Amino acid sequence: MFFDSLEKIKDEVLNCKRCPLYKTRKNPVVGEGSIQAKIMFVGEAPGKNEDEKGIPFCGKAGKVLDELLNMIGLRREEIYITNILKCRPPNNRDPEEEEIISCTPFLDRQIRLIDPEVICCLGNFSARYIMRKFGFENVLGISRLHGKVFHFKKIKIIPLYHPAVATYNPGMGKILEEDFKKIKKVLEDEVKDSYIKW
Ligand code: URA
Repeated sequence: MFFDSLEKIKDEVLNCKRCPLYKTRKNPVVGEGSIQAKIMFVGEAPGKNEDEKGIPFCGKAGKVLDELLNMIGLRREEIYITNILKCRPPNNRDPEEEEIISCTPFLDRQIRLIDPEVICCLGNFSARYIMRKFGFENVLGISRLHGKVFHFKKIKIIPLYHPAVATYNPGMGKILEEDFKKIKKVLEDEVKDSYIKW
């Protein structure tokens, strides 16, 4: 059987030319965290700071994310964090379908290796991809899904607003806080209002 590892994925992503984004990226952003993480966060795509440093969520949205993680007692070392796209789309435009198709086999392998109990989707693109991957069809927009918990076998999927929303709409900060408190409850196994699929 083909042996896979996070190191192997990293090598492949660093040399990837599967879509045209390699021409404009400075650094691919593979992902960061522990292979033993119980909880994985999946964002959309690297922004300007991430592209410069090769580190996920190291800009303004990352600051919001760190505050939210801190609020529920999670440290970055305890989670694994990556994105749908590993390279920055020019001017932070939305990911294109072809780019998502080319890039997500890396994410699928990261999920398989980490085997998380909980996957938190940050924003619409992430929620749509992850929900469909795990068999939830007719996916609603993030405004309808955020903070809800969906079960696929032993995995719990929690769609969330992207933390960047709090940087241009401070009112969204409270909603993100409430949803992050839900993550804490899920990790403590205290959530009763789950959506069970299988
Ligand atoms: N936004 C994302 O979705 N991912 C990052 O890594 C940074 C900002």
